[in-house]
Amino acid sequence: MLSAHDTIQRLGGLARGAHLQRLGFDRRALSRMVAAGQIERLRPGVFGVSQVAEDVRGATRHGGALTCVSVLRQHGIWTLPTEDALHVWLAPGRHLLRHENCTCVTHYYRGTPPLGSVSVAVALVHLHRCSGDEAFFAAFESAWRLGLLSRAARSQIRAALPQNSRWLVDLARADADSGLESLLRLRLHILGILLECQVSIRGVGRVDFAIGGRVILEADGRRNHDGSLRHKDLVRDAAASALGYETLRFDYAQIIHDWSTVQSAVVAALQRSSERR
Ligand SMILES: [Zn+2]
Ligand SMILES: [Zn+2]
Repeated sequence: MLSAHDTIQRLGGLARGAHLQRLGFDRRALSRMVAAGQIERLRPGVFGVSQVAEDVRGATRHGGALTCVSVLRQHGIWTLPTEDALHVWLAPGRHLLRHENCTCVTHYYRGTPPLGSVSVAVALVHLHRCSGDEAFFAAFESAWRLGLLSRAARSQIRAALPQNSRWLVDLARADADSGLESLLRLRLHILGILLECQVSIRGVGRVDFAIGGRVILEADGRRNHDGSLRHKDLVRDAAASALGYETLRFDYAQIIHDWSTVQSAVVAALQRSSERR
């Protein structure tokens, strides 16, 4: 017979006591193994092994499943900056369990939380409820680009969103290069400004966005501008200007923390370009 540790490991690192008892581990045997430090009792009736990710163990101790931004981060999906607190899904009516270092954000959403953590699709739906349209949109595009959303998952997410937010899924693309680009595109879309993405301009190269064949937008969040890249950017800007383009560059801090300045700059540049025509 396998040890309780190996059995829990094979079950994905977490197991309910009732399940383990059906496999022949009685309560006393489980208690002995907890006392010996071979397995851990994370909450009444749920046991885990130490190989399970710390965030998942925290959510389990809290009484639910890891979800929302906490799951998306585990998968390397781009998210808007938030505090590091765990986001935990509890079934309606369940009591949260206070545990050591508990700073969890508790989500009482419909449905039955699984043991451990939710799928990326469920986490995205929860993120929409927790943090709204923009946070959802940027994370959705990032997950899609990482190959984590099948067509079925995308339509499942769309159906789970409130009716008036479903257009976000229709607007999303699989090739958004960064969360910043996603935000930029969404916010300008709301203003009725259509962006062409990842455009190749002869003599300039590939640019993040172009608007109306006159304005180039670059979101510089992920690049580090050491000397040679800075020089390349200047060469590109000069080439673009010679072709009649105005280039605007925005970084992470501007797009996240100072959107009104970014918006005014884009709108003014478009205004100038239409007056020149
Ligand atoms: Zn907690
Ligand atoms: Zn949340």
